[in-house]
Order: sequence, then structure tokens, then C-alpha cells
Amino acid sequence: ASHASATSATKADEFLGGLLLPSFDRNSCLSRYESHQYYRFSPYAPSSYLLRKLREYEARHKKCAPGTPLYAKSVSQLRSGRGTEAMECNYLVWLPYNGLGNRMLSLISTFVYALLTNRVVLLHSPADFDDLFCEPFPDTTWVLPPDFPVENLSQLGLNPDQSYRNLLDRKKMSNDPANATVRSVPPYVFLNLGHEHRFMDKLFFCGDDQVVLDKVNWLLVFSDLYIVPTLYSMARFKDELRLMFPEKESVAHLLGRYLFHPTNSVWGLITRYYHSYLAQAEQIIGIQIRMFPFGTIPVDDMYNQILSCSRQEHILPTVEGDQEAETGNNLTMNGTTRSGGADSKSKAILIASLYADYYERLRLTYYEHAAKGGARVSVFQPSHEGVQATERRAHNQKALSEIYLLGFSDALVTSGMSTFGYVSSSLAGVRPTILLTAHRHKVPATPCVRAVSMEPCNLTPPRVRCPGYAEDKQGDLAQHVKRCEDEPIGVKLF
Ligand code: GDP
Repeated sequence: ASHASATSATKADEFLGGLLLPSFDRNSCLSRYESHQYYRFSPYAPSSYLLRKLREYEARHKKCAPGTPLYAKSVSQLRSGRGTEAMECNYLVWLPYNGLGNRMLSLISTFVYALLTNRVVLLHSPADFDDLFCEPFPDTTWVLPPDFPVENLSQLGLNPDQSYRNLLDRKKMSNDPANATVRSVPPYVFLNLGHEHRFMDKLFFCGDDQVVLDKVNWLLVFSDLYIVPTLYSMARFKDELRLMFPEKESVAHLLGRYLFHPTNSVWGLITRYYHSYLAQAEQIIGIQIRMFPFGTIPVDDMYNQILSCSRQEHILPTVEGDQEAETGNNLTMNGTTRSGGADSKSKAILIASLYADYYERLRLTYYEHAAKGGARVSVFQPSHEGVQATERRAHNQKALSEIYLLGFSDALVTSGMSTFGYVSSSLAGVRPTILLTAHRHKVPATPCVRAVSMEPCNLTPPRVRCPGYAEDKQGDLAQHVKRCEDEPIGVKLF
């Protein structure tokens, strides 16, 4: 009930401040019309400049989409195997790579690059990626047709012959902007912008290379990263990004809500779960627990890390007789109001994890002990899949459902270095508390940190020095990006 009052449904809300267009068939994608009722926060409204860019993009997409004469023209040039003439429509073909969180972040990044370079994004959508997201643009499709002439898109690997690096190494193209013409470049180039430094086509981030790549009709984008902070470090994009996003912290928050609308089958999972378990609570505390192979620690240690984080940041309701928590509470008696601690609000703790252990322990804790202040505390976890199974659609649908359920939280605790957690925080519009990773299986001395922004971290920015990219690295770091709280080599907007 408190949710209804927190988000009184006006028309303006429904379309997220002009981000969404009303011109869709409501029943074909309910989440587009209903999700605003579930989000607790909308801290940033889109700038009018961003809205203009989005409307231009939508028009361009419709004009250039599969099925149009302009699409056919670009495809036939691609079939011919060489650049012939400048095309009216230029494309980014997005290739899925890694887990769902990674995919959502690389998709947002690819879309931002499309806004910056007037291109059109088409998705290579294999079966495991089907029936997750609705079409985001009106009266058109963003799905690449199966007869696209580049074959085996799922099997190109990290560094195919047509990668930018290989093309340059083998002198099949030049990155000298003085000679760049449509005829001097191939009709398509594969860009690996993902996390493996060895394979990354890093020169992509250089000014001259951008001039050359501008001439290429089709760019295939293979990435599992959120590269928007890195685009901010490119001289040619900085000003435009600032106009689109006067508040830098808002990029993934706004574009995530703009692009991603779970299909009706996923929205069914989300809303059934929400109304059965979460809707009654006055406060929802989301906890996302991810363990990477390089940072596994025993369940007891992880559970203790969560508890000490909660005491440090006053997140979970304290229970009667918890001595350690009491000392912690005294420290912030005159501090800011936080979620958790001791009050009488009813609380739902929503856990997302591949494992059931943390749910079991927390649930028992609030069964065996009263929460201070008399709060009613319930603990829920929608699924515990055990292992990542990105090749299974039903598994991905659950993952997406849980990303959204976390996105409806009032407060979030996420796992460091997890893109799953990053997407949840951005969608929620919440600066999360981030559990630090147990590098080399050592429990971190500081259990967690409060994030400075709701933006995702680019965990692996390119190491490259060239004109046009991060020319004043210290200046960049001071002005618009920060080192990530959870990964010191990473950068994030704030
Ligand atoms: P990251 O590896 O944490 O950066 O996140 P990704 O989303 O890219 O990849 C992890 C994948 O593992 C997810 O997409 C899911 O397939 C699975 N997974 C990890 N944690 C959870 C969870 O809490 N719930 C569910 N349902 N799946 C999860």
C-alpha cells in the first residue's frame, strides 16, 4: 500500500519524464506501462537535449531498420565485400557476450555510441537472449534478421580475421585519417571492446581511429563492459555527452529505463513475486550476493562480511541482544537517517544469489530473534539456480526478473565487480552499498563501501595512450570519472 502513495501514478510518471513514447501497443509489453508503479526512486529527469536525441534516434532507426530499402542497400554493399559509396544508414551490430548484466551494460554502451555517431543498433539475438526484452523503438525492430550476410555471429570468438586489430596489423586498412575514404575501408569491422586486454581493439578509443571508423558502414560490437565512462575520456564525445547527460550519474539510470522493458513472460515473474512477497512491506532491502571464482570464501565468512557491512552502514534491522550492533548504533546516534537499524517499519529483505545459504541464515535470524523497535522482518529469495547457465533462456529470465526486483528496493547491498548488481542499482536509482571482493580468497578488511554514484563501473578501461583519448588523465579523473570503489583499475562516472 505504501508503494501506491510513494509513486502516485501521473501520466508524466508513466512515460518517465518523456523518456518513453506512448505510441506502443500496451498489451504487447506491459512492463513499459507499469514499471513506474514499482520503482521507488526517479532521481534524474532526462534533459531536453537527450529527449531530442532519442526522438531523432527513433526516427533514424525506423528509416534504417531491417525491411527498409536503406537496410537492403547497406546489406548488398556488405555482400559485395567492399566499400562502394557513403551510405545513409550506418550500423552497430551488437553481439552478446558473457552474463546478462554484462550484456545489458554493453548494450547501453553501444546505444550511447550510436547516439554519438548517428548509427543504428541491431541485436544479434540467439535463442538464449530471446523473450527477455520488448522492442524499445516504436514501429520497428532492433533484431538483426537471420539472413545477415556475416555468418556464425555466435562463433566469431575474441579476435576474428576481421577484428580491427588484425585488419590494421595485416595492413588491410589504415588508421591514417588523411587517407580514409569509404572505398579505403572494408564494409564491416569487428570491434572487441571487451575485458580481455590482450584482444581488446584498444585503438578504437583514439581520435584518429574514430575518424576512420566513421567511414565503415557496419561495426560489429563485441563487449561485456560498460564503456560510457571511457567514452567521456574521448575528446570528440565529451561535449556531446555533457549536453545529453548534464548529470553524469544519470546515464545508465535513464538509458536502462529507456531501453529495457521485460517481456510479458518476464514481467509475469516479476509482478507475481512482487505482489506475493514484497508489496506489503514498508521498506524493501535488496541484497545481491555474487561469488566469483577468483574470490570465493566460505559461507560463514561471507555471511559475517554481510553482517559487519550491515552494522557499519546500518542496513539490516538489528536484533535484540546483538552487542556488536549496539556499539555500532551509538556511533551514528546523531548521524543521518539510514535504512535498517531499529524502527518499527515492516521490512522485506530480498536476496538475490545463486545459493540459498544466506537466505537460510538470515531467515533463521529473524525467526529466532526479535528485531529492535518491533519491526516485522521477512526474508525472501526468488530462486537459487546454483550455477550460471547463460545458455538457458529460462535461467536468464529468472536473472532478469531478479535484477528488476532488486531495482524496486529502497536500499541495496550489492557485490563488488558484479555487473548484475550494477544494473540493479542503476535501474533502481539507488547508490548501493558495495560488498568488497575477497581477492585471492582473503576476506577484505573493510566489508563494504558506500558507492559515490549509481553508475556502473567500467571494470577494465583500455590501457592506451593516443591523441584524442584521456589526454589529461589526471584531469579526467578529477572532473568526470573516479576510480571505482570496488575495483581500483576501473573508472566510473559520478
Ligand atoms: P556478473 O557476472 O556478476 O557481472 O553478472 P552477469 O549477469 O553478467 O553474469 C552472472 C550470471 O549468473 C547472471 O546473468 C545469471 O545468469 C547468473 N546469476 C548470478 N547471480 C544470480 C542471482 O542472484 N540470481 C539469478 N537468478 N541468477 C544469477
